[in-house]
Amino acid sequence: MSGEGIKENCGVFGVWNHPDAARLVYLGLYALQHRGEESAGIVSTDGEKLFIHKGLGLVSDVFKTDEDLKPLVGRAAIGHVRYSTTGSTLLKNAQPLLFDYSHGKVAIGHNGNITNAKRLRDELEAYGAIFQTTTDSEIIIHLMAKPSYRNRLEGLTQALERVEGAYTLVLLTESEMIGVRDPLGFRPLVLGRVGKSHVLASETCALDLIEAEFVREIEPGEVVVINDKGIESRYPFGRSQEGPQAFCLFEHIYFSRPDSRVFGKTVLIVRERLGEELAREHPVEADVVIPIPDSGNSAALGFSRVSGIPVQDGVIRNHYVGRTFIQPSQLVRDLKVKIKLNPVREVLEGRRVVVVDDSIVRGTTCKQRIQSLRKAGAKEIHMRVSCPPHKNPCYYGIDFPDRAQLLAANKNLDEIRKFLDADSIGYLSIEGALRAAGHPPSKYCTACWTGKYPTTIREGVDKFSMEILRTL
Ligand code: SF4
Repeated sequence: MSGEGIKENCGVFGVWNHPDAARLVYLGLYALQHRGEESAGIVSTDGEKLFIHKGLGLVSDVFKTDEDLKPLVGRAAIGHVRYSTTGSTLLKNAQPLLFDYSHGKVAIGHNGNITNAKRLRDELEAYGAIFQTTTDSEIIIHLMAKPSYRNRLEGLTQALERVEGAYTLVLLTESEMIGVRDPLGFRPLVLGRVGKSHVLASETCALDLIEAEFVREIEPGEVVVINDKGIESRYPFGRSQEGPQAFCLFEHIYFSRPDSRVFGKTVLIVRERLGEELAREHPVEADVVIPIPDSGNSAALGFSRVSGIPVQDGVIRNHYVGRTFIQPSQLVRDLKVKIKLNPVREVLEGRRVVVVDDSIVRGTTCKQRIQSLRKAGAKEIHMRVSCPPHKNPCYYGIDFPDRAQLLAANKNLDEIRKFLDADSIGYLSIEGALRAAGHPPSKYCTACWTGKYPTTIREGVDKFSMEILRTL
């Protein structure tokens, strides 16, 4: 992607009934690192107590040595990686969050955004609730904690009745691990098995890493309770596979790992199909197709297959540029694009080039890339984007900039082409993207392109803006 800062918010992982549960979770979080780079954490249980280790940074920053895993004893554990948009990434907001209340201890890891979070939090605070964090995830625990509920599960079910938006959850208590997917199924969650152990994961690539077998996806609206008696599924909102769902189409286009199976489809294959659709919709005469690595690779392959134009690596990614790359001087800022992606002159010189990227958000990075391709000798540059133009923010767990900064929300196609200094530009249509994704259109959320939000957005405040309000 154009490296313009869109980030997934979180990834979750859990293991029940394994002697090395915390270590497996640690490995699972490694596989899910792309879903959140700013904090990581694991909570484990030995059946009596819960143990926690979490911190800011990558999984490798938080779990540096074996000593960090040693305190996480027990046969069950859940873990979480998280991304936050603000400079105020706080340790207290790192997940899993761990709470002690009238029904015992509970840890929670959350992927998604609760869209009525502010309203619920104001209401809870009016009744005297004291929040420990500034995340929307804690609201679920407060809603669960009413003393009148007979047990944790009843509390959780009642809490879910109140929250709106996107939530994929893993919870851990001394006696059970619980997985939840919201009724519209915005974010993925899968069930796996390794020996006699059960596994929950945001993506199947994390199952692969620990050699767990994929069992099935957790269904939208399903609450799965895993304990020593086995697995039990509940459907507090009813069970309807026929009703509207809202799988995030952008999981396929950009966020999920290409080797994962998400919403029943292998991401890499969907991306190749996106490229094929793109080539049919926006043909062009050119000498070479080059992908913007890594996420443009599969779409470029698909584009090449349909257009007959050969694909070649025309820019090479430096895989060692970390998220913490400092920009201490103007010189470094000016060279940043080349530090990440270096054009290969021999591939580009004198040639008509089709550049395939998976998205353009603000457009500034894309513009710099085109400049650097021209400097490397490209004769013509034809931008092809394997998703529709982004015009709207996401309220369901993806950090897009607001409309004022979204290139396509403020310019028409020709203005975008001129701004980027491309010879031509073509975005995939929403119909083409849906065809490539493979399920009927009613199964997907497409709001960041179409503006048709699958839930009512009343507040326009997400977990991060709530954080900004409270940490300034
Ligand atoms: S608005 Fe876009 S990014 Fe957000 S859930 Fe919907 S499709 Fe995904």
